[in-house]
Amino acid sequence: MGGIIKMNIILMGLPGAGKGTQAEKIIAEYNIPHISTGDMFRAAMANETALGLKAKSYMDQGALVPDEVTNGIVKERLAESDTEKGFLLDGFPRTLEQAQALDQMLTELGKKIDAVIDIHVPEDILVDRLAGRYMCRECGATYHKIFNPTTVEGTCDRCGGHDFYQREDDKPETVKNRLAINIKNSEPILAYYKEEGLLQSIDGNREIDTVFEDVKKIIE
Ligand SMILES: [Zn+2]
Repeated sequence: MGGIIKMNIILMGLPGAGKGTQAEKIIAEYNIPHISTGDMFRAAMANETALGLKAKSYMDQGALVPDEVTNGIVKERLAESDTEKGFLLDGFPRTLEQAQALDQMLTELGKKIDAVIDIHVPEDILVDRLAGRYMCRECGATYHKIFNPTTVEGTCDRCGGHDFYQREDDKPETVKNRLAINIKNSEPILAYYKEEGLLQSIDGNREIDTVFEDVKKIIE
């Protein structure tokens, strides 16, 4: 286990960059709370807080939860006592406006961000990772071009079939479009934290443990 640290960290990374894996390793090593947007929303809704109910009413209509509700939920979470030993913020901020709101709420809470760690992987490699999934049309077995290919190329391990297909969501064009939106949103946030001198970019196109060594260097 790592030593006692008191670090307030934001973890950033595009889909497929391995952010989730690094988040798990960080919280296991340093025993700080993992504050992810998804968990926060689920907790606020399960506890039926005023903001949680508000968020739920938007989600039930299939609408986007407005920033003031999201920011309020984040602020309530950051005000909880377990964040005194530091925290790992994951999935927030998603826009420059949220980043600015975060600075303001942290000031109000007497806290600050110590480091913004960006797991960087080139776009074409992310496309390979995210668009690699394919399925056997015969039996539905799922494979991945990089992570889990068929043993014999073009032949399903399970049924011996030769007919494969990709879901719309897994096709390179769909993945590229999804990434483009993410890149467009994250660029101003990264620039903002760079300007504040907080941004630490890590090459995420390496083995998981090698990436984590770099993460630890930043934290320690
Ligand atoms: Zn098959």
